[in-house]
Amino acid sequence: NLSNRLKTVADYIPKNAVLADIGSDHAYLPCYALLNGLAASAVAGEVVQGPFQSAKKQVQKSGLEDVISVRLGSGLDVIDPNEVTCITIAGMGGALIEKILEAGKEKLAGVERLILQPNIHAHHVRKWLLGNGWELINEEILEEDGKIYEILIAEKGEAKAPYQHTALQKGLLVGPFLMEEKTEPFLKKWAQEIEHNRRILTSIESAALSPGNEAKKKELNDLIEMLEEV
Ligand code: SAM
Repeated sequence: NLSNRLKTVADYIPKNAVLADIGSDHAYLPCYALLNGLAASAVAGEVVQGPFQSAKKQVQKSGLEDVISVRLGSGLDVIDPNEVTCITIAGMGGALIEKILEAGKEKLAGVERLILQPNIHAHHVRKWLLGNGWELINEEILEEDGKIYEILIAEKGEAKAPYQHTALQKGLLVGPFLMEEKTEPFLKKWAQEIEHNRRILTSIESAALSPGNEAKKKELNDLIEMLEEV
């Protein structure tokens, strides 16, 4: 039974895609995609031995050895240029996703769509996409088991509409599509962030004055103000 988080990622796999799921762990996502006819074939990449073995077991158990290739290696090292048409990277921090994309840039030839699900710091991913010729075509946000997840979907192209009518800074942080839609999980996430930053601000204010504090206080105040505006 796949999580709603990974189901939502799978919803965006284009028909007949050749998929690479990087950091696949149990390979639940590629197995689901193949069993439901969402992809033609897949690579499941894992850098850690334990999860790599779990992925192999799951693929075997599902009888999918012919269509899912499980490979041990870091990031996009496990694929060849022009081998896959869609890449999913889910369940990691935004900074790690950015690192994987940056390190594997030359493997993105032939890739038509990226589906990225950073657990935190999605703005790292948005910034990388913007700087590397990938256009954000949609975003999702959902709550599951008390956690709020963002999913970013990108295709090759220049950043267009979503970033034009929103201040770039804001768009990167909160997500241009998510800001338009303002769903329940979106409002909840950023209300929590405002609360969190207010608490930090209060603790800085009650601490002894030091020169760095003023700059930090201004930064926090600006952030809170921007989030309140959103
Ligand atoms: N993608 C699955 C999901 O969303 O449920 C698993 C997420 S799990 C929290 C993150 C996985 O990424 C771990 O199994 C970890 O070993 C793997 N990982 C971390 N860094 C990686 C890298 N550079 N290349 C490939 N896999 C990596």
